Amino acid sequence: SSRREMSSKWPERLGKPLEVTEKLLMGPGPANCPPRVLEAAAKPLLGHLHPDFCEIMDDVKAGIKHLFQTENELTIALCASGHAAMEATLVNTLEAGEKVGIAKNGIWGERAADIASRAGINVAILEGTPGKSFSKEEIEGFLEKEKPKAFFITHGESSTGVFQNIKGIGEICKKNSCLFMVDSVAACGGVELKMDEWGIDVLYTGSQKVLSAPPGTAPISFSPRARQAIRNRETPVQSYYLDVEVLGRYWNVDAQPRFYHHTGAVTNIFALREALSFISSENLEETWKRHKICQKKLHEGLKELGLELFVENQDDRLPCVTTIKVPDGVEWNVVTALMMENDTIEMAGGLGPTAGKCWRIGLMGFNCTEKNVNKVLRSLQKALQTIGYLSK
Ligand code: PMP
Repeated sequence: SSRREMSSKWPERLGKPLEVTEKLLMGPGPANCPPRVLEAAAKPLLGHLHPDFCEIMDDVKAGIKHLFQTENELTIALCASGHAAMEATLVNTLEAGEKVGIAKNGIWGERAADIASRAGINVAILEGTPGKSFSKEEIEGFLEKEKPKAFFITHGESSTGVFQNIKGIGEICKKNSCLFMVDSVAACGGVELKMDEWGIDVLYTGSQKVLSAPPGTAPISFSPRARQAIRNRETPVQSYYLDVEVLGRYWNVDAQPRFYHHTGAVTNIFALREALSFISSENLEETWKRHKICQKKLHEGLKELGLELFVENQDDRLPCVTTIKVPDGVEWNVVTALMMENDTIEMAGGLGPTAGKCWRIGLMGFNCTEKNVNKVLRSLQKALQTIGYLSK
């Protein structure tokens, strides 16, 4: 045969232990973890159904409920990233042939539409403008016209740096008999968020942003109304791994006996538990305020460097991710490479509508400090001086 014989030797580099250089991760995520979060991940392993691990799962559930400001029973962490939470949101509440309305003003609405379409869900798009949030009037008009079963919106549009005010949208959805689903991966913890009070039916976030835990887990919660919609389905959820009602049994939701759904990501749940413990050292109001203060400091510093923000309206600016216009004649990736090389600081380029046009700076959780704002500003200034955009 023409098949090459496989070598019996392992790849050479694997013969050496892992080495990782520490970096200051000031992009849109992942953010750095507090040392005790990483230490939690290095604790001895437990079985995924051991009573001591189950107690840790209970603490995680309680922590997420507080973070989300919800009393929803079905509040758990997926052992998967934010994308899985997006998919779980869409494929549990909606069946093939049903209609979802998706607000799209950046990559996340687009991604949600892709996920829904693949599951045979009909998608109606509320087309927005990258860099701008949606108004309540726009949303109301869209829901009245399209009459979707559920409406999806992104709280923190990390590709464009847009903050979406979601207070008040829940009532509009309810009036239109529509479930309200919110992606708060890049906002939760960094801005005010009240799931129950604001009438959100499905809410999720990611571990690697404001929570400052390693990537790989995704807190998610379903309201009683969302669960009723799931119970009313005619077909089973087509994804076994993401079937949240079955998953809820593993998480002891409704005090159901623990059920082996999958082997929980034990180590990652340890880290999430510790991240929730870490964030609990402040009141939520204090955490939200810290993000606002650092955002202000960052924006003032950027202005002093002569740089412009991508998001025009101040109220539309997301504290967790700032998008900065790359000035004409400047190569964005030369600047980010200089910052990494000289200061081991990550500043990211754009994504989707901002690709090639913007830089993105993250201020999230553990990393959201005035000291880090100063570090990233100084590093950016130096890089802009090196390329001759700023004088020394
Ligand atoms: N939604 C938003 C708003 C995000 O910022 C991200 C991550 N950048 C995701 C969803 C997807 O999360 P993950 O990369 O963890 O799958």
